[in-house]
Amino acid sequence: MRLRNISGSREVIADSGFVVHEEDWRPGSWHEIFGNDNPIQAEIGMGKGKFLYTMAKLHPMINYVGIEKYSSVLLRAVQKLEEEPLPNLKLLRMEAEEITRVFGAREVDRIYLNFSDPWPKDRHAKRRLPSREFLARYDVILKKDGRLEFKTDNRELFEFALGEMEAAGWKADYVTFDLHGDEKLMEGNVMTEYEEKFSALGNPIYKYQIYR
Ligand code: SAH
Repeated sequence: MRLRNISGSREVIADSGFVVHEEDWRPGSWHEIFGNDNPIQAEIGMGKGKFLYTMAKLHPMINYVGIEKYSSVLLRAVQKLEEEPLPNLKLLRMEAEEITRVFGAREVDRIYLNFSDPWPKDRHAKRRLPSREFLARYDVILKKDGRLEFKTDNRELFEFALGEMEAAGWKADYVTFDLHGDEKLMEGNVMTEYEEKFSALGNPIYKYQIYR
């Protein structure tokens, strides 16, 4: 997702107490940042934050961290939090490749990837968020019994993700090629912004939940 450059978005983000800034990134400090011992979950590539904001509202006993690389996009999530603050949601403007600078070993309970950028060219495969290169990073920060969830409507990206999961030795709790047609998996499903948009067009939604 790329929005027009919104002037002042960097400044708004720099001043927001809902954003954890680079100078405060310290692996192992998240329970301190949230001020409790509740589990920590992260969405990587959160976009405007609809999914994570809804999750944080529904599950006040879970701490959520949203990661987004563009300030013009992150701004929307910041504005929402300024309007209606939630104590269990924090935002980071960063490139996901740096994730191990932010979280310590086994600090995260669950990672969500929702409608990640496809990077269709072969030579960009390692930039895809479900690639083996990223799985190796998630392997560091995820708890031993932690889970990674991935939703997309992009069939090629999903098939790539299944191959990478296997190559990296992860196992699936479930894999579906039609999330919205699966009553059981839809229990508690929170729609992301892209999920609403693409399912309304009739695209099937693919999802896996994996662990190692
Ligand atoms: N998860 C949202 C947005 C999907 S669009 C939804 O489902 O509605 C993908 C988002 O991920 C974009 O906003 C993009 O800027 C962000 N993103 C992609 N690659 C990223 C990376 N390497 N690091 C941080 N953010 C990334």
